[in-house]
Amino acid sequence: MSNMEQDRWSRVKSRLRTSVGEDIYSSWFARMDLESVQAESVHLTVPTKFLRSWIQTHYADRVLLCWQAEVPEIHRVDLTVRTAAMRSAAPAKEAAAVVDTRPAERSNGRTAPDLRAVATAPVSASHDALGGSPLDPRLTFASFVVGRSNALAQAAARQVAEGRRGDNVMFNPLYIHSGVGLGKTHLLQAVTWAGNSGNERKVLYLTAEKFMYGFVAALKSHTALAFKEALRGIDVLVIDDLQFLQGKSTQAEFCHTLNALIDAGRQVVIAADRPPADLESLDDRVRSRLAGGLVVEMGPLGEELRLGILKSRVNAARTHHAGFEVPAPVLDYLAKAITHNGRDLEGAVNRLLAHSKLNAQPVTLEMAEREVRDLIRPQEPKRIKIEDIQRVVARQYNVSRSDLLSSRRTANVVRPRQVAMYLAKTLTLRSLPEIGRRFGGRDHTTVLHAVRKIEALVSKDVSLSDEVELLKRQLQE
Ligand code: ADP
Ligand code: MG
Repeated sequence: MSNMEQDRWSRVKSRLRTSVGEDIYSSWFARMDLESVQAESVHLTVPTKFLRSWIQTHYADRVLLCWQAEVPEIHRVDLTVRTAAMRSAAPAKEAAAVVDTRPAERSNGRTAPDLRAVATAPVSASHDALGGSPLDPRLTFASFVVGRSNALAQAAARQVAEGRRGDNVMFNPLYIHSGVGLGKTHLLQAVTWAGNSGNERKVLYLTAEKFMYGFVAALKSHTALAFKEALRGIDVLVIDDLQFLQGKSTQAEFCHTLNALIDAGRQVVIAADRPPADLESLDDRVRSRLAGGLVVEMGPLGEELRLGILKSRVNAARTHHAGFEVPAPVLDYLAKAITHNGRDLEGAVNRLLAHSKLNAQPVTLEMAEREVRDLIRPQEPKRIKIEDIQRVVARQYNVSRSDLLSSRRTANVVRPRQVAMYLAKTLTLRSLPEIGRRFGGRDHTTVLHAVRKIEALVSKDVSLSDEVELLKRQLQE
C-alpha cells in the first residue's frame, strides 16, 4: 500500500472513530483492515464472519460515508473475512477477482451504500463451528511485557497455562477485565498457545462472538448437541470479549457450559471490558458464578510499561527488517505521547517501520512526531464505578456503604443515598434498573425518583449543589 493510501485510510478511520464514538469504534472497527482501493470501490477486511455481518447490517452507511468524505469517487465498500493467506505476503488476488465479477452498477442509480459481504477463500474444512477463533502467533507470554498494572493478571494466566490435566484448579473461572487495548487478548492467546504446546491439554480460544456464532450456526444445522458435547470435552475454555455475549438462548447455553466445565474441574478463562457485576445483560446466576473465581483488573499501561512494549515491538520487527533502528529519544517520546492503549503503540511502530522502509530514511524524532500525530489523543475521561460513588458519598456524609444499600429510611441516609443514585445516573452509563440493583435491589422507579429529586434540589439549594459538585470532582480526579 502506498504512503498516500495509508494516510487516506488513517483519515477514514479517524472519521469513523469520530462518527461512531470511541467505544463502538474499538469494539467493531479496531480490527478492520484496508485490503485494496480501486477506482470506485474499496475492499476492507475483518477477522470474523460475525464482525462482517454486524458491521454490514449496522454500519454500512457510516463506513461508506467516511470513505466518500475522503474520496468522493468511492461508491462501494466490500467487506470480507480475512483468511490466513490474505494476512500473509500475497495480497488479495482472489479478492480482487471477486470484486471484478460483481455487477458493476446499481440498476436504479441510487447511491445507496453497498457494503457487500463476499465469501473469499473458502473457510477451511477444519474451521467448523467449534474451531477456535484465529490466533496471532505473536501474542505469547514471551512477548508480553509485565508491569505493575498487569503483573497479577499475567501471573494468574501463567499459572493457568502451566496446569496439567487432573491438577487441582486453583481459581475458576479466571476473569480478567480492563479497558480496550490493555492486553487482555494478548494474555488469553498466550494462555492458549502455552497450554496447547506444553502438554496434553486441549485449550480452546473463542471470542464471545464466535461462541454465539458457533452456537447459532449449530442450532440451525441441528448439531447443537454435538457442539455442546464438543465444548464440554475440552480442558481449558478461553472466552474473549464476554461483554458481547447477547441473546437469551446463547446466554443460557453459556451458563450451562460454564457450569458443566467448572463442575467437572475444567479451567475457564474469561476476558471482558468490565467486571462481572457490570455485565448488565447477563443474569444474576451467571454473574455470581463469574465473580466466584479470581477476578483481576488490568490497569492502564504506565509509561514504563509502554516503553517496554515499544521496545519489544521494535525488536520483533527487527527480526524481519534488520536495518530498522528506533533511537532511544524517539522511543521515549512515543511512550510519553501515546498514552491510550497498546494497539496505538503497535500502530506507531508499524508506521515508523513503513515510513523508514518506503523512504529508505532513518527514523528521527521529527518524522515520528509527524507520523503518529493522530494517535495522540487527549486523556480519556476516567471511567467511574458505582462502588467508587458509594464509597465517596458514604465518606462525605459519614454513613457506611451498607447504610446506603440498606432499606433504612431515616433522613440521614435517605439524602446521601439519593445523591449517590443521582451521581450513578449522571456519571456512569448504567441503566436505572442496573443502578437499582446495585443499591440493594431497589426498583428502577425508586432510582428515577431519586434522580429527579436531586435534580430539582440542586437547582434551588446552593449548598447541596456545592456538595454535589465537590463529590463529582473527587470522583473525576
Ligand atoms: P485488549 O484485548 O485488552 O483490547 P490487546 O491484547 O488486543 O488488548 O492489546 C492491544 C495491543 O497491545 C496488542 O498489540 C498487544 O500485543 C499489545 N499489548 C498490550 N499489553 C501488552 C503487554 N503488556 N506487553 C506487550 N504487548 C502488549
Ligand atoms: Mg481484546
